Amino acid sequence: MMGTETSFRCPVCRAKFRSRRECSRCGADLSIIMTIVAEAQICRKNAIRAIHSHDFQKAHVLATKSQNLHQTEAGRRLLLLTSWLESG
Ligand SMILES: [Zn+2]
Repeated sequence: MMGTETSFRCPVCRAKFRSRRECSRCGADLSIIMTIVAEAQICRKNAIRAIHSHDFQKAHVLATKSQNLHQTEAGRRLLLLTSWLESG
């Protein structure tokens, strides 16, 4: 359902981030990016779980947090959905 697409790039050489601790091109340490991406993914998963339990306010908070950590297209759609649900 959620892709692994990411907008992150290596801060050193601008190579596309490939969900690895080290840049595939220059070997820079990307573990901080890994942590942020993983946290955002957990927030998105918890937001979806909250939607399923009809806790729309919690879902919206989690979706917002997830987008603040790491913006993705899937996250943007989830945030839109939760803001509709919360206001409805
Ligand atoms: Zn690099």
